[in-house]
Amino acid sequence: MPEPKIAVVVGLPGVGKSTVLSIAKDMLEAKGYGVEILNFGTEMLEYLKKKGIVQSRDEIRRLPLRVQQEAQAGAATVIREKFEALAEKYEKFVGFVDTHAIIKTPSGIWPGLPLHVMTNLRPHTIIVVEADPDVIVARQLRDKTRYRADYADVRLVKELLSYVRQFSIASAVLVGASVNFIINEEGKAEEAAAAVTSVIENI
Ligand code: ATP
Ligand code: AMP
Ligand code: MG
Repeated sequence: MPEPKIAVVVGLPGVGKSTVLSIAKDMLEAKGYGVEILNFGTEMLEYLKKKGIVQSRDEIRRLPLRVQQEAQAGAATVIREKFEALAEKYEKFVGFVDTHAIIKTPSGIWPGLPLHVMTNLRPHTIIVVEADPDVIVARQLRDKTRYRADYADVRLVKELLSYVRQFSIASAVLVGASVNFIINEEGKAEEAAAAVTSVIENI
């Protein structure tokens, strides 16, 4: 059985990571891959819900940093275990981690992919999903299913986009992963998904 392909997918809230990944999953399945997308925030939320600490994913980044750090470490371990179990069922397997290179917390910009997370996940690549700052803010405002007001400012988003790049490169260097930058243009999520698919096939 070949080694599973693992990709960590990052980008600012509302840029379209989850949307693009669900399309890329269909594309890769059509090419014969078993594909699992695990949302890092969902795993953190499960961990924190069990302890009765929070109820919704957009509350997590406002918790005390030590609590977030503990949930982050727990989520990385669970994701690695889930991928290992799933990979055994498929001839070709791709594991996507839908997550963040940076999290804007009240105590400062915090890395989503520090050394212990990267060594646990062992990704081949980090895929950075990007879009124009005004497009990202428009998507955030349109999507009423989520609370992203703490990111919804064009100047802030512009600044954070450069931090996402810098933190992604720093995280990739920790474990020798590659980095890919993919633009998710308005109305063109399929194109971004095709670019993600191509990255995976080239691993
Ligand atoms: P978060 O990090 O907060 O989970 P996300 O990066 O996963 O955010 P999505 O939830 O996938 O973002 O997308 C945010 C919104 O933008 C959704 O309403 C989605 O339908 C829309 N969207 C995503 N990609 C595109 C696109 N290419 N064109 C138009 N709308 C898009
Ligand atoms: P998301 O649904 O991708 O926006 O994730 C929800 C929340 O989970 C984020 O706002 C963060 O608080 C948390 N989260 C997601 N990925 C990470 C990560 N790698 N490290 C720390 N927190 C994360
Ligand atoms: Mg998402």
